[in-house]
Amino acid sequence: MSEAIKGACLCGRVQYQVSGPFDAFHLCHCSQCRRSTGSAHAANIFTSEDRLEWLAGEEFIKRYTPDEADVISKCFCTHCGSLVPYTSLKSGKLIIPAGSLNAAPGIDPDDNIYWRDRADWYDAGLQAQKVEQGPDD
Ligand SMILES: [Zn+2]
Ligand SMILES: [Zn+2]
Repeated sequence: MSEAIKGACLCGRVQYQVSGPFDAFHLCHCSQCRRSTGSAHAANIFTSEDRLEWLAGEEFIKRYTPDEADVISKCFCTHCGSLVPYTSLKSGKLIIPAGSLNAAPGIDPDDNIYWRDRADWYDAGLQAQKVEQGPDD
């Protein structure tokens, strides 16, 4: 087991640590992940449940469990809305939103899945001007 990496939600109420090795790292462009994250894609690291330890704020976590079996579930901080790790109902795998980690996970993305479903503006976004900080205004 490698050294634990800590993670947190935006408000910091939910804190966890997780140790590798991790099984997979998928950038998922499916329409459900785009809607669920409000962004171009989900960035999900997969591992097993026993790798996770909650450090704080477990009581702030809410699970969204859909009625339809083919809709993804998610867990989030009820104070700030950030996605936090959860166990997939389908696979039983622990899914860690990569953006919630405090440090590099030591694994690069394996692939972009559901590429055909990517946002219409995604390719253009990759080509767009790179600005080191926020826009000047
Ligand atoms: Zn929070
Ligand atoms: Zn997806």
